Amino acid sequence: MSEKKSITVLGSTGSIGTQTIQTARHLGLKIDALSANSNISLLEEQLRLSGAKTCAVADEKAALDLKTRISDLDVKILAGKDAASELAAFCPSDTLVNAIIGFSGLVPTIKAIESGKNIAIANKETLVAAGEIVMPLAREKNVSVLPIDSEHCAIHECLRGAEKREIRKLIITGSGGPFFGYTREQLQDVTPEMALKHPNWSMGKGITVYSSTLVNKGLELIEAMRLFDVPEDKIDVIINRQSIIHSLVEFVDGSVLAQLATPDMRLCIQYALTYPARLEGLTKPLDLASVGTLNFYNIDNEVFPSVNMARRAVRTGGINPCVYNASNETCVDMFLQRKIKYTDIFTLIDSACVKFGKGGNELTLDGIIEADKNAREYVKELVG
Ligand code: NDP
Ligand code: MG
Repeated sequence: MSEKKSITVLGSTGSIGTQTIQTARHLGLKIDALSANSNISLLEEQLRLSGAKTCAVADEKAALDLKTRISDLDVKILAGKDAASELAAFCPSDTLVNAIIGFSGLVPTIKAIESGKNIAIANKETLVAAGEIVMPLAREKNVSVLPIDSEHCAIHECLRGAEKREIRKLIITGSGGPFFGYTREQLQDVTPEMALKHPNWSMGKGITVYSSTLVNKGLELIEAMRLFDVPEDKIDVIINRQSIIHSLVEFVDGSVLAQLATPDMRLCIQYALTYPARLEGLTKPLDLASVGTLNFYNIDNEVFPSVNMARRAVRTGGINPCVYNASNETCVDMFLQRKIKYTDIFTLIDSACVKFGKGGNELTLDGIIEADKNAREYVKELVG
């Protein structure tokens, strides 16, 4: 068993958050603190079951309601938009699981690293927007950053014992999503209801939509660059319709290692919490005979330009990956509110990346926060 004895879970009420609590319970890990945006009925239930002594709630009104609901418990409540950051800095845990969705996960990650905590990170937006700041900081503070993302967990597993010079390329897999095989014309009519149905994974709303556009694969390409320090041109993306191969690594001698498993995020969560140990887990064993066939395809980059836009963003460098993420988050929200069409997501991300297409200047946290804000405003203005 690893030395990790206690954890804090940010975004505990979400899809990854709830699966993290199940996994922690299975592993017998102590949970010190939890956080949510506004879902206090679930947070209350989690606090009562986990025995966590502190929580952070971003929505101030929800925090007040929670105070009344749990007046019989000895739990400290931090409230407001900076509450998760405060919690990340001061919670006593040795590991912070960041399962917040979106850019709001960035500052809490930095605070946790600064205070010497290991990070298990589902919040890929942090690594996309600011990986070039976060990863060196983690090295400086001598803390680990382990991915909770099936592809990156797979690559991490394939790279065990490997030297960096032995890698020819990383190969990220994706399911292709619900609109695999669609033409651009067919995509015009996609509704939120259609985009919210993923063929193989059950996830939060935001990631379900950005998985369907394949922007998730673009984010994951950048995430892999930051986690494994591999350049963009050594990372391929390929579709495996069954989501059984979670990613692969090709080595310089031509050998390719793949990681396979039943699709279940609890496997990656457990890996990040117990690494380097492997323990009995909650994931159903893989039954290859019942899977039968594995199919692979290239992405249709004409219909889904998302991965190529991510490649351009990292080649431009600087704030551009942050802009790619910020414009995507804004577009997903507007699409779910029916303010834009599905295909507008691609054109709006592209416009924002062109508009803020400067690399160059040294990246700072303030510069990234500013770029995130500007990109969101720009996209909203374009839509009017
Ligand atoms: P969900 O939408 O299910 O959950 C998000 C969590 O973050 C909730 O607890 C939510 O609270 C909280 N939250 C939302 N906004 C804020 C905010 N502004 N401040 C503080 N907390 C906030 O997301 P997922 O669990 O699906 O995804 C989380 C992260 O994991 C994403 O970055 C995603 O890309 C990544 N990921 C997810 C996978 C999955 O299978 N779901 C797979 C791989 C990666 P509340 O419930 O109160 O709204
Ligand atoms: Mg993934």
